[in-house]
Amino acid sequence: MPVYSAPTKDMQFVLHEVLDITGSGIPGYEELEPDFTAAVFEEAGKLASDVLAPLNAVGDREGCKLENGLVTTPTGFKDAYKQMQAGGWMGLDLDPEYGGQGMPYLLGTGVGEIFVSANMAFNMYQGLTHGVYSAIHAHGSDQQKATYLSKLVSGVWTGTMNLTEPHCGTDLGLMRTKAEPQGDGSFKVSGQKIFISSGDHDLSDNVIHMVLAKIPGGPEGIKGVSLFIVPKFLINDDGSLGARNGVSVGALEEKMGIHGNSTCVMNYDEATGYLIGEEHKGMRAMFTMMNEARIGVGLQGYSQASVAYQNAVIYAKDRLQGRDVTGVKNPDGPADPLIVHADIRRNLMDQKSFIEGARAFTYWGAMLIDQANKQSDKDAEGLISLMTPVIKGFQSDKGFEMAVQAQQIFGGHGYIEEHGMSQFARDARITQIYEGANGVQSLDLVGRKLAQDGGKHVIAFFDMVKSYIKDNEENETLKTDFLEPLKAASKDLQAAAMYFMQNGVKNPNNALAGSYDFMHLFGHVCLGLMWARMGSSAMKALKDGASDTEFYETKLATGRYYMARQLPATGMHLARITSGGDPVMALAPDAF
Ligand SMILES: Cc1cc2nc3c(=O)[nH]c(=O)nc-3n(C[C@H](O)[C@H](O)[C@H](O)COP(=O)(O)OP(=O)(O)OC[C@H]3O[C@@H](n4cnc5c(N)ncnc54)[C@H](O)[C@@H]3O)c2cc1C
Repeated sequence: MPVYSAPTKDMQFVLHEVLDITGSGIPGYEELEPDFTAAVFEEAGKLASDVLAPLNAVGDREGCKLENGLVTTPTGFKDAYKQMQAGGWMGLDLDPEYGGQGMPYLLGTGVGEIFVSANMAFNMYQGLTHGVYSAIHAHGSDQQKATYLSKLVSGVWTGTMNLTEPHCGTDLGLMRTKAEPQGDGSFKVSGQKIFISSGDHDLSDNVIHMVLAKIPGGPEGIKGVSLFIVPKFLINDDGSLGARNGVSVGALEEKMGIHGNSTCVMNYDEATGYLIGEEHKGMRAMFTMMNEARIGVGLQGYSQASVAYQNAVIYAKDRLQGRDVTGVKNPDGPADPLIVHADIRRNLMDQKSFIEGARAFTYWGAMLIDQANKQSDKDAEGLISLMTPVIKGFQSDKGFEMAVQAQQIFGGHGYIEEHGMSQFARDARITQIYEGANGVQSLDLVGRKLAQDGGKHVIAFFDMVKSYIKDNEENETLKTDFLEPLKAASKDLQAAAMYFMQNGVKNPNNALAGSYDFMHLFGHVCLGLMWARMGSSAMKALKDGASDTEFYETKLATGRYYMARQLPATGMHLARITSGGDPVMALAPDAF
């Protein structure tokens, strides 16, 4: 059975040595002293290793069940959920006014990595609830906040987000679910939503659905969409649960992975709903959930890669096959362990250098979110808005790829279910699809985010990379191993952005055909920047006489690998981008 152990030392390194969070001046970060974050990660790690990880395979095998209209989760999920609640984990970074612990989003992100690595399907019940909380907190009325928030924070109730319908996923303007006003402030919501994660289950007393629907007579398309709160059980004035609302589970979806999470067809039959935010401005409120969820999906990507990598390393050290071509390493055994072979090392280094880079990128993104929220910092808000499709798209693509590479270390045993490696790949696969498929993320990046606020944020990003390089150039080793490759990659990114500016207007397909490559190019530059920063921190620690030299030397070697073996991919992406739309669009639909 696969195992998981929280990589707390690596996590601490990013928070305290690379991002220097306590010195950042962000309100609330002063509490995040190294001892404190270490204690939090250690506690979360225990729950993850002892309770959540062993349930991961159980969830995969058993899946959820729908009987007599009620969904039950796999054996052990209910008890694990109670332990999550009892530990206060659900409200870790939520508002103390509603019973949360008020910790920064960054700390919640670190803990999230641990729980998601251990059991992604299980953690989705909590993840969606966090998103519903955020949407109500940001857009709900005082009464809605009073009714729902404390119950969501404690996990007594959970939440879902309902966008997708059978005929529309990406193009939500086609939505048919409707909401008829009742004259008393409430609405009757009718329609069908599909693929709803955590749609129904036996973990909480009530499920609060956030449902996008159209009010008849409103504007056509996406401009006519509003957001509604539709509880599974209606709520009495005193806060107790009332009658069952007109919402039911039509079916449980059979799917490739995340079997422990209930993915439901939800039928709304004149269900009572309450408008949240303004009429026809539903997408604005939904985006509060979606932006948060997109960072969460990017986190899911590298977290699945992380747990898969841990198990691949154990296997590579244990499995004996072939001999080291440079000299026998295990003379008493019939063969050497897999880990001696260069191609296995290449594979493991790909995984390790991606996971650690993605972790730093995600934590940096979470820090920008705290900066935006706690300091009303518009620049930080703009930067994270630009980065969100990159975190989501690049990290979920790479996360899946790395989970598959980890599976590859096991040879045929990775394909057989016994070792659990296929589950990591199957679970990771959805991260490339939901919360907006990755192709659509890249369109968002190139079509909207690049030009947002007159291109101010992408220019700020380039300036940041440039000044980072300039400020650190005096360190010759850093310059050769990290800054020069970063400079070259950043130039590729700028050249790609310039190509879009010069060629995208005369033919939009010149930009759209290159958008996917651009998302990956951008992701590589971000991870390159993170590795430069990690390399610099590791060099500093060694210079300052840190006792754990092996840890820092390992960081440097891993970073050098990323710069030498991964970052050059930017050149390939740029070449594809500048080949324009013609090669992509050369064939007529009938020629396929
Ligand atoms: C397990 C699972 C859980 C899910 N959970 C939820 C949930 O909790 N709530 C919810 O509302 N939804 C959920 N979804 C739905 C998910 O978000 C959608 O499936 C996804 O957004 C894509 O929509 P679609 O399936 O309709 O694909 P489509 O929109 O039909 O897209 C098909 C393909 O075409 C591409 N494409 C679409 N439009 C364009 C375009 N204009 N230009 C270029 N390419 C385009 C897409 O990138 C995609 O690759 C879930 C799905 C699954 C499978």
